[in-house]
Amino acid sequence: MSESMIIATSLQELWQALRLLEGPLGLVPTMGYLHEGHLSLARRARQECRSVVTSIFVNPTQFGPGEDLSRYPRNLPGDLQLLEAAGVDLVWVPTPEVLYPPGYQTWVDVELLSQPLEGAARPGHFRGVATVVSKLFNAVRPEKAYFGQKDAQQAAVIRQLARDLSYPIEIVICPTLREADGLAMSSRNSYLNADERRAAGVLYRALGAARAAYERGERHAAALLQTMSAILAEEPLARPQYLSCADYDTLAEVETLNEKTLLSLAVFIGSTRLIDNIVLG
Ligand code: AMP
Repeated sequence: MSESMIIATSLQELWQALRLLEGPLGLVPTMGYLHEGHLSLARRARQECRSVVTSIFVNPTQFGPGEDLSRYPRNLPGDLQLLEAAGVDLVWVPTPEVLYPPGYQTWVDVELLSQPLEGAARPGHFRGVATVVSKLFNAVRPEKAYFGQKDAQQAAVIRQLARDLSYPIEIVICPTLREADGLAMSSRNSYLNADERRAAGVLYRALGAARAAYERGERHAAALLQTMSAILAEEPLARPQYLSCADYDTLAEVETLNEKTLLSLAVFIGSTRLIDNIVLG
């Protein structure tokens, strides 16, 4: 751990700062507007690595047209304070021009895992994610990289890309941190007004009801999805986009639950799109 936190913008500043840090190095990629979920990743990296690097970059290539890129929440001064308190050594805050200079034309596509669920709802999203994460890996060259289970498909895509592109990086997936009513912490929760915030608790209630049915012995995906739909239907502000019961590794929908199943959903609360998931088995 260094004396005081270093902040880098350009690649040259990043590389200069990295020369001062001792390994093993842990990387925590984020889009900023940090909350306890992000900080739990940084603290885990702090425990497991000699030096910790956090990146803050709202990656334009993972947002589709009409998505919330231009209004995505930002608070760099607040983020830097939280990261310093969490013991982070180096924060890399590249501008879009640093990562996507004029004439940029190289992409990483994790073909199959990117297709269903979030990939189907947000075409091109995972091409943007896989590309930027590869670029962060190449620039920082960490021994370990930390991601949240909150974004379960993203975690699967990144595990796959690390394997497929032979990155010598251990991918560490950390549990989802939640608010008192179970709502998964997310920078996007800041879009919710008071009524919507109350309504947003329905995502975790739906997942919890499905988990209870599973624990009573229910193994039919259709029954679990029906349980979730019924809970969501009770909340007038909630507009489900998809509900899924999929194999944890392949993300293919299952009819009957197997050893490890990912139960996930995307729901609009007003105009805010929220996602959440639990793993059964
Ligand atoms: P984001 O800034 O939303 O791109 O998130 C950066 C990282 O933090 C990703 O690996 C997310 O999966 C993770 N993350 C976001 N929300 C949570 C949460 N509630 N609990 C744990 N990790 C999270």
